[in-house]
Amino acid sequence: MTQTIETQSDLINGLYREGANIADTKAPDVPLRDRWEERKFRARLVNPANRRKLHIIIVGTGLAGASAAATLGEAGYNVSAFFYQDSPRRAHSIAAQGGINAAKNYKNDNDSVFRLFYDTVKGGDYRSREDNVYRLAEVSANIIDQAVAQGVPFAREYGGLLDNRSFGGVQVSRTFYARGQTGQQLLLGAYQALERQVAAGTVTTHRRHEMLELVVVDGRARGIIARDMVTGAIETHLADVVVLATGGYGNVFYLSTNAMGSNVTATWRAHRKGAFFGNPCYTQIHPTCIPVSGDYQSKLTLMSESLRNDGRIWVPKKKGDDRDPRQIPEDERDYYLERKYPAFGNLVPRDIASRAAKQVCDEGYGVGPKVDGVSRGVYLDFAEAIQRMGRAAVSAKYGNLFDMYERITGDNPYEVPMRIYPAVHYTMGGLWVDYDLQSSIPGLFVAGEANFSDHGANRLGASALMQGLSDGYFVLPNTINDYLADGPFEKVPADHPAVVEAVTSVRERIKYFLTNNGSRSVDSFHKELGHIMWEYCGMERSEEGLKKAIELIRALREEFWRDVKVLGTNEELNQALERAGRVADFLELGELMCIDALHRRESCGGHFRAESQTEDGEALRHDDEFAYVAAWEWAGGDQAPVLHKETLVYENIEMKQRSYK
Ligand SMILES: Cc1cc2nc3c(=O)[nH]c(=O)nc-3n(C[C@H](O)[C@H](O)[C@H](O)COP(=O)(O)OP(=O)(O)OC[C@H]3O[C@@H](n4cnc5c(N)ncnc54)[C@H](O)[C@@H]3O)c2cc1C
Repeated sequence: MTQTIETQSDLINGLYREGANIADTKAPDVPLRDRWEERKFRARLVNPANRRKLHIIIVGTGLAGASAAATLGEAGYNVSAFFYQDSPRRAHSIAAQGGINAAKNYKNDNDSVFRLFYDTVKGGDYRSREDNVYRLAEVSANIIDQAVAQGVPFAREYGGLLDNRSFGGVQVSRTFYARGQTGQQLLLGAYQALERQVAAGTVTTHRRHEMLELVVVDGRARGIIARDMVTGAIETHLADVVVLATGGYGNVFYLSTNAMGSNVTATWRAHRKGAFFGNPCYTQIHPTCIPVSGDYQSKLTLMSESLRNDGRIWVPKKKGDDRDPRQIPEDERDYYLERKYPAFGNLVPRDIASRAAKQVCDEGYGVGPKVDGVSRGVYLDFAEAIQRMGRAAVSAKYGNLFDMYERITGDNPYEVPMRIYPAVHYTMGGLWVDYDLQSSIPGLFVAGEANFSDHGANRLGASALMQGLSDGYFVLPNTINDYLADGPFEKVPADHPAVVEAVTSVRERIKYFLTNNGSRSVDSFHKELGHIMWEYCGMERSEEGLKKAIELIRALREEFWRDVKVLGTNEELNQALERAGRVADFLELGELMCIDALHRRESCGGHFRAESQTEDGEALRHDDEFAYVAAWEWAGGDQAPVLHKETLVYENIEMKQRSYK
C-alpha cells in the first residue's frame, strides 16, 4: 500500500509518507435518505439459533460499549465485556452533564433530521462524512424512545412532555437532559439492560481487566490480551470478532475534563497492529471549564455547556480591571460573543467560543488570578437569568452544576459570576472506521468516542452521547452481523504464534517497567508531555511550534524509556504500572497528533493553524487541498507513519465558510 516519498513540502522533512487513497465502500450508492435502510437490508443476517455460537468481545462498557453489549446479548450472541473499572456504572460516560441531541422537533421550532444533519456537518467544519452524519441524525429519535422505555428520567415540561434546551451551534432546542446528570442517567439505563443480559447468561463481564494487546490472526482481529488489574494475571481471550468502545484520549494533555483513567491504550495497540488512526489532531477544547488553579492539579472540571443557555459570557472593557464583577456597570462590560456573533450569541459552537475566550485573555482582558502574568478566565454570569426566571427556576435547571462550582471554587454562582476558561474535553479523532463501524482490520469494530466518528473537526455539544448510543444500540447490531455471517471462524489455539507473540510482548513490557529502576515517576513524564501538547498542539498550532513539539516529544520518550521508575510488583493492584503503559502509548500518540496537525496546513473546527485564518481571526479552511479524512497507518516505530486520504464528498450540503454571525 505504501508509496515512495512524494512532495507536499517534502512531506515535512520525512516526518510522514503518503500511501494509497482509501474509501468507505460500505455505504450503499442510493440517495442519502435511503442509505441506512438499504445497508440494513443488504447486510447478511445470522440465524437466531446460530448467534449463540458466535463469540463477541467488547472492550469498554461506557455508553457505547454497554449499549452494544446489551443489544448484541439480547440478540442472542455470546458476548464478553471488559472494562477497567469495578463496575460499568463508573465509565467516564457517567460524567456527561448537559444532554443528548435528537431531532424530535418537540418544540415545533423547525427542527428535522435534515437540520440536525446539516448543523452537525457545518459544526464539524465540513470534515465529516455525509453518510454517517445523516444516519446519526436519523437514529437520534430512536435513542430517546429507547432510553425513555428504560426509565431514564429525562426532564419534563409542565404538561408532561420531555423538555428540551439548546446547545451551541444550533438555533433550535433539541437537547434532552436529566438535570446536569444526563450521562449518568443514560448509563444507568444501559447498565440495567446490560445486567439483564448478564442474568440471562448471554453476556459475561470482566471487571478490573485492562486490554493491553490485540490479537490478529491471518489478518483478522480474533481476541485480546488483558491484565487482571487485581491479581496481575495476564489472560488471553479469543473470539470471532472484537469491538473497541474504549473512549477518547484527551488525557494525552494530562490536564483535561476526562476521567483520570481515560486513555488510548486499547486503540493505540490496535493501531500498532494495523488499524488506521483517523484525524488524531482533532481535539475539542471546551469553553466552559473551571480555570486551572495551580501546578499541583491533575484534573479539570467542566461546567456544562447547557449553562450557556441562560448564562452570559463577558469580560471587563478595561484591561486588568480587578473590581468585584458585581461592581462593574453594564456599559463597562464586553459581552464579546453576543457582540461578535449576534445570530448565535453565547451559543456559538465550542471551537469558536474557546478561541474567543483565549483571544480576549491574550489581549489582557481576562479575569482572575494571573498565571505567567496573564489572567486566564472570563465571566459566565447568571444575574440576568435569575432576575428574569427567578432563583428557583435557575436552580431547577442547573442546581447541581452550581453546587459543584461552589464546592470547587468556594464562590456562590447565584451571587457572583462563575469564572471559566477553555480546557481539553473530547477527541474527535480515533480509529478510522467504515460505514459499518469496521476498522481497517477485518473483524475489529470501533464504537463511541474511540472511533474517528461523525463529528469532523469539531463536535457540537450533546452529540457524543447521541453518537455513542447510536453506535451501540442501533448501528453495530445491524452491521456486525454482515461480518459474522461468515463465522464461526476457525478456532485459534492458545499456542498460535500470533497469540504467543501478543502475550510475550505484554509480559516483556511489564517486566521492563518494573525492573528499569530509573529516577523519574510516570506522572512527571505525563505532566511534561501534557505541557508540550497544550503549548504547541492545543488551541492554536503553528508549523514552528509543532516541529518543536515533535522534537520535544521524541526526546521525552527516549528519556521515559531510559529513566522511568515504577515501584511495586505485577501481582498486585499497581496503579503506577497501569499508568506506565498508558503514558508510553500517549508518548507515541502525541507525536502522531503533532504530525497530523503539522501536515494539515489549514484551520478547521478545533484545529486552528495560526498561519490559516481569515482577516477577523476565524478558521480558514482549504477545501481544495484538505477535504479529506487523514487515516494514519503505523509503519513500525522506526519508520515514518503513512498517510492515507479518504476524500470527503458533499452532495447534499454545500461547503461554505462557517459563519455564526
Ligand atoms: C465532563 C464531561 C461532560 C460531558 N458531557 C456531555 C454531554 O452533556 N453530552 C454529550 O453528548 N457528551 C458529553 N461528554 C462527552 C461524552 O461523555 C463522552 O464522549 C462519552 O460518554 C464517551 O462514551 P464511550 O462509551 O465512547 O466511552 P467511555 O464512557 O469513556 O467508556 C470507555 C470504556 O472503555 C473502558 N476501557 C478503556 N480502555 C480500556 C482498556 N484498555 N481495557 C479495558 N477497558 C477499557 C473503560 O473501562 C470504559 O468502560 C462529556 C464529557 C465530559 C468529559
